[in-house]
Amino acid sequence: MENNHQEKDVGLYEKLLSRTRELLDSGRKGLDEAVRKAGEEITAAGEYTREQAEKISEYVRRDLEEMEKNARRAGKAIRKAVDPKRVEGNVKSGLARLLRAFADAAARLAERAERQVEYRTGEVTAAGTLACRACGAEMTLKQPGRIPPCPKCYKTRFMRVG
Ligand SMILES: [Zn+2]
Repeated sequence: MENNHQEKDVGLYEKLLSRTRELLDSGRKGLDEAVRKAGEEITAAGEYTREQAEKISEYVRRDLEEMEKNARRAGKAIRKAVDPKRVEGNVKSGLARLLRAFADAAARLAERAERQVEYRTGEVTAAGTLACRACGAEMTLKQPGRIPPCPKCYKTRFMRVG
């Protein structure tokens, strides 16, 4: 039963993430509104309860914020390293659109920049790289799923590094 429950959470996470991204790509909604609307739509479809949707929505919101923060950091590094004219094209096509979509979250991001957002074992999160807060070991998730304990020290607190 436990496995079914976990798979359902991951499935819900994937649905919420992809729908939230669609809403953000349409450019008319900020992050908070997009996450809320995606949750309402998916709850209305009847497969998931509001309680499940609210819990998983928090993971989706956090992941999108963290990815945005990492993209911005990477953007800065790239801008320093390569020809500005080439970067300009990239910024116009992708990064700038992403930054606009997240404009309403900018204040909160700035506030959070100092204290790293925490990820814990057992939570569902997007594909990417997490670093253990205790020992620094990094682990890469190839697809969305449950966060396992640190493979090196078995502790349970992480931050997103990629
Ligand atoms: Zn560790």
